[in-house]
Amino acid sequence: MKYHIVSYGCQMNDYDSELMAGLLEETGYEKVDRPEKADVIVVNTCCVRETAERKVWGLLGTLKRLKRRKPDLVIAVTGCLPQQNGAAEDIRRRFPHVDLVIGTHNRHELPRLVEEVRAAREPLCAVWREAGEVIEGLPVRRESKLSAWVPIMFGCDNFCTYCVVPYVRGRERSRRPEDIIREVETLVAQGYREVTLLGQNVNSYGRGLDPPTDFATLLERLDRVEGLWRIRYTTSHPRDFTQRLIDVIANSEKVCEHFHLPVQAGSNRILRRMHRGYTREDYLRLVDGIRAAVPEASITTDIMVGFPGETEEDFQDTLELVRQVQFDQAFTFVYNPRKGTPAARMPDQVPAEVKSRRIQELIAVQKEISLAKNRAEQGKVHEILVEGPSETDAARLAGRTRTNKTVVFEGAPAYIGTLVPVEIIEGKLTHLVGVVRNLR
Ligand code: SF4
Repeated sequence: MKYHIVSYGCQMNDYDSELMAGLLEETGYEKVDRPEKADVIVVNTCCVRETAERKVWGLLGTLKRLKRRKPDLVIAVTGCLPQQNGAAEDIRRRFPHVDLVIGTHNRHELPRLVEEVRAAREPLCAVWREAGEVIEGLPVRRESKLSAWVPIMFGCDNFCTYCVVPYVRGRERSRRPEDIIREVETLVAQGYREVTLLGQNVNSYGRGLDPPTDFATLLERLDRVEGLWRIRYTTSHPRDFTQRLIDVIANSEKVCEHFHLPVQAGSNRILRRMHRGYTREDYLRLVDGIRAAVPEASITTDIMVGFPGETEEDFQDTLELVRQVQFDQAFTFVYNPRKGTPAARMPDQVPAEVKSRRIQELIAVQKEISLAKNRAEQGKVHEILVEGPSETDAARLAGRTRTNKTVVFEGAPAYIGTLVPVEIIEGKLTHLVGVVRNLR
């Protein structure tokens, strides 16, 4: 039997798709790269923004024709979209050709439920309202042979007023450090050299664990794993980024000098309405603290424009903060209401034309900064973990610096999977261009 997975959204969803692939392969399924060849198609959804939802509706529409041609095909919808209240039934009503709907809390049940649907020839909605215990030791079929996603916690308790994640990923629950360290040691034994630790808010890792622990301690322990070269992590919440964590990262060998710190807005009034739990002054102090301890640090962020009630003055505060911090890169978004979130019920929603003018202005400001930051890398030699052929130019190789900048350069395929010193000769908006320098 053949399976095909379409994955939308964040790194946690990428990991969930690798997990579902591992579970299906453990029960004898084989991966195919085209939906037409599959006996089971899994659509792993995201609902963090309207655009993500629209993509899912579009795909489910096109799968109707395929289902008509292949009546025995099983179409499963998983992930955050069906986990929203009432969404699972809504999917079945709008797309009767969808056979199975499960959520984020029971993706481990996928193979069993697919067989149940196949045997009963009846569609099934099986979404768990509440998250269960963290299940360890499930098979994962990873896309990369070099860099692995390693979830350290699930869910989020922050309830930022615009965000749907706490409603679809549940309450925070952390994996035990021993289980994480064992997984990383196993990955290193399998040839992995880099791990990215995943969590909606990795900085609150360890809450509720007995014996108590925290993210800084976990990083200290992972830094001692023999054979591991690089540790990355996402996503951090600025409010929970402590000086101890900064010091652990500054003194570590393997934790990369890239800090992704979603600020979301530069106005204290808007940060309060977002329930972010920090002020712009707190955020600027954090950035200064990081740069004092890790001078070569790259800092990236997420910024949203058009949050309900955002005035021109609030927006100018955001632009001013962007100019002051000088982010290496910023992921910029237009606020759009998410069903069930407090912000969606707030009055004074910002008109669409104002949102689009503001996002264009923000993108223009950040583009200038990103380009200048990348040009400032020219002449520097960076240690690159070579990931493979460049996505934009197959004749060249690509990899990332410890500061998470993509570098494209000419080199032998034998470099793939190794650390190579590369001198940066050109800084472009989205990446750097380099040449390999005197390999020892
Ligand atoms: S920290 Fe806020 S924005 Fe991030 S996942 Fe949690 S609720 Fe959403």
